[in-house]
Amino acid sequence: MKKEHIDLLICPYCHGKLELTITKEKNDEIIEGSLKCKNCGKEYEIKEGIPKML
Ligand SMILES: [Zn+2]
Repeated sequence: MKKEHIDLLICPYCHGKLELTITKEKNDEIIEGSLKCKNCGKEYEIKEGIPKML
């Protein structure tokens, strides 16, 4: 997924803002990483370019 799309994502639990950590990227696309909610602290993995939000 593209970095700019991260701004559109919110935490599905509390609707808080998410903080992005990238561990692998390619051509401005995030391949692997994680999203952490700044509000409730939940973490969501990004695998093969897809955030696991559920
Ligand atoms: Zn949250």
